[in-house]
Amino acid sequence: MKFIIDSMLGKLTRWLRMLGHDTKYVVNLDDNTLVEVAKTEERVLLTRDVELCGLARRNKIDVYLVEGNNSQERLAALSRKFGIKLELDPDTSRCSKCNSKIVPARKEVILKDVPSGTAKFYERFWRCPKCHKVYWQGAHWENIIKTLEKALSQT
Ligand SMILES: [Zn+2]
Repeated sequence: MKFIIDSMLGKLTRWLRMLGHDTKYVVNLDDNTLVEVAKTEERVLLTRDVELCGLARRNKIDVYLVEGNNSQERLAALSRKFGIKLELDPDTSRCSKCNSKIVPARKEVILKDVPSGTAKFYERFWRCPKCHKVYWQGAHWENIIKTLEKALSQT
């Protein structure tokens, strides 16, 4: 399933990409153009904008008015609605910055792109082939897992 998300839900965009879903994030696009893109690329529109939601429905676009006030509530809602798995596997993740599929990277190769402490403590790395952002299961990883667990408990 592919998604398109309007500018109000940037955080959710990063979550869906991390969970492996092809997610387009649009800013500064008028509603009609956004609906057109959703239609052409066959993407499900996620928004919190009631007017945009109505416009999409009139244009027969798959649209979901996102419920919830924080990441875990929103992820739980999406999981209930679309059956999205709330498990993170970096081997299937997409780059949170640019939506490309990230690929495993050898430590020697990314060494110059991460802080030296990080290179010392971690062995597994992934890299975005497009924007070159490097990923590893660092300190932030625990927070990611906690949020997903909380979301899962609300499904
Ligand atoms: Zn990237």
